[in-house]
Order: sequence, then C-alpha cells, then structure tokens
Amino acid sequence: MERSRPNILLTGTPGTGKTSTSELLAEKLGFKHLNVSEIVKTHNCHEGRDEEFDTYILDDDKLIDAMEPMVEDGGCVVDFHTCDVFPERWFDLVLVLRANTDVLFDRLSERGYSDKKRNENMESEIMQVVVEEARESYAEEIVHEVESNTVEDMDSNVDRMVSWVAAWQANNA
Ligand code: ADP
Ligand code: MN
Repeated sequence: MERSRPNILLTGTPGTGKTSTSELLAEKLGFKHLNVSEIVKTHNCHEGRDEEFDTYILDDDKLIDAMEPMVEDGGCVVDFHTCDVFPERWFDLVLVLRANTDVLFDRLSERGYSDKKRNENMESEIMQVVVEEARESYAEEIVHEVESNTVEDMDSNVDRMVSWVAAWQANNA
C-alpha cells in the first residue's frame, strides 16, 4: 500500500494505556486517532452484545469496510484491544503495551469493571494473549512490546514513536 505517512497500531489488554498513549501520540504527530471501540459502536460493526463477556460481538467485515477509507492514506494511530482482525498491510508499526498485574488491577478497578471482567483481563495480560496475537498476525520486525506502567513509560513510548515516524518518513520520501 502506497502512503506518505505510516499507520501505527497500538494494542494491548484493556487498561494498558492504549487510548491515553494514542491521544498523546496523535496530537504530537498531527495524526488521526482511531479508537476502534468507538468506530464499532458508531458504525454498528457488531452483531449485538455478548452478555457473558460484556463485550460486542464484532462484525469483522463491516469493521474493515468502515475503516479502509480512514486508513488508506496513512497518518493514523489505531487503538484496539485485539489486533488479528485487521489486514496486515494496514500497519507499518505495531506497539503492544504491557502493564504489571498490580498496575492493571488498580486501573481496571477504577474503571468499575466487575471482578469477573477484571480477572479475565488480568489473566489475559499475564498469559500474553495480545502479544502472541500480534506476533502471529504481523511481521516480527514491526511488532514491539513496551511497558506502560508509569507516565515516564508513556512519554518515552511516545518519544520513541515520534522518532520512528520521522525515520520512516525520511526513508519513504
Ligand atoms: P486502554 O485504552 O488501553 O484501555 P487507557 O489509556 O484508557 O487504557 O488507560 C487506563 C487508565 O490508566 C487511565 O486512567 C490512564 O490515565 C491510566 N494510564 C494509562 N497508561 C498509563 C501510564 N503509562 N502511566 C500511568 N497511567 C496510565
Ligand atoms: Mn481505550
């Protein structure tokens, strides 16, 4: 796919800091922040709710169709807790945010998650579900796992991606 600016995917277990980091990064780069959970709701890319898991049942095809025109010119920071639904060709960089169990516990409690939902997400983080999904879905050289426990982590992750984008643009000019 030809694009003059890269697309970045920020993924990770809920509560790892995708939305906060994406907002900051998109603002620094002048990129669009695409919060996929919001797109799923506003574009109705779901087949109702899964009450047991308290999430939407994703309509993958509808989501891809809705997002394709948004990402085709590049310049997007895409924020979603799962990453195997997107075409591989969309992304130039995939960042998997990681958080320590105690940190995630506090963040998900603060968010008002039920014990069940919080425990499922913590288990998923411990089992590295999203990391493995990312490694299976994208070329290994574009997948990076980074810590997102502190504000310093967030700043350094954003700085690192800003430098990476500058290098990408120099190489693709
Ligand atoms: P996600 O989008 O992955 O679910 P959020 O960005 O909504 O996560 O972050 C969840 C909570 O944790 C928010 O209150 C946010 O301010 C806080 N947070 C996220 N990342 C960090 C970080 N690196 N350091 C400190 N607090 C963070
Ligand atoms: Mn979020």
